[in-house]
Amino acid sequence: MGDLLKDKRALITGGSRGIGKSIALAFAGEGAQVAIADYGDEAVAAETVEELKALGSYAAFALKGDVSDPEFAKVAAIHMKDIFGRCDVLVNNAGITDDGLLLRMTPESFERVLRINLTGAFLMTKEISALMMKQKRGGIVNMSSVAGVKGNAGQANYSSSKAGLIGLTLTTAKELGSRGITANAIAPGFIDTAMTQALNDRQREASIAAIPLGRPGTPEDIANLAVFLASDRASYITGQVICVDGGMII
Ligand code: NAP
Repeated sequence: MGDLLKDKRALITGGSRGIGKSIALAFAGEGAQVAIADYGDEAVAAETVEELKALGSYAAFALKGDVSDPEFAKVAAIHMKDIFGRCDVLVNNAGITDDGLLLRMTPESFERVLRINLTGAFLMTKEISALMMKQKRGGIVNMSSVAGVKGNAGQANYSSSKAGLIGLTLTTAKELGSRGITANAIAPGFIDTAMTQALNDRQREASIAAIPLGRPGTPEDIANLAVFLASDRASYITGQVICVDGGMII
């Protein structure tokens, strides 16, 4: 518990579970008021909101919707303005996988993953950065992946979406830097969440064997960097892609 994010207002997509939840809790523990936006189970989101309130984010709230729906991004921006008065930090974390070899992957699967992982982040950035521009400050953190930096067999859709997020991050940093807005990407490696628990034993073992530090990462490993990037201590850092992967990338 600290005050690195004291009084900051943050919106975290996919914040009810996994990496997003860890980030939400870490932000609240550092003094932020936190909103989360998810697609699925409202009871899970409500539980996370209670945990956020217990950590001091007394005005925490959850939004239910699909980040790839342009209307949802507009609604999210309106809620941030009406409830929190502003948005200082946006974490584009919501994401899905739908793995399969390139030759067998359907165009529908490819487009769905791109739509949620990449178009979703674009839409949220567009609406929320409009708020940030009026404030003349803000920080955006996009959840990319090591798969977006070096590709991954069986993940043509996912790797493309995560590589696209890096392009979005760099362009956002260039376009909005003059307005006091930073944009950075985190590229996690193999992190222990529902997403990786869905892999079979062989896939898990192969992934862990490629990690110099010899263990999967935890959601907290990612949250530690997200807190720093969202804080004023990172106010001169923009357009960066930082791997948090136990050395998997090297
Ligand atoms: P997770 O446990 O499966 O959580 C995914 C989150 O995204 C959930 O909160 C989910 O909400 C939300 N979400 C999915 N589709 C959505 C949509 N259309 N609209 C709004 N929210 C949606 O995954 P995770 O492992 O925490 O991953 C979080 C992020 O880190 C993802 O972008 C992922 O690609 C990235 N990442 C993960 C790893 C890893 O090893 N785990 C590695 C690299 C990058 P619901 O619960 O409501 O469905």
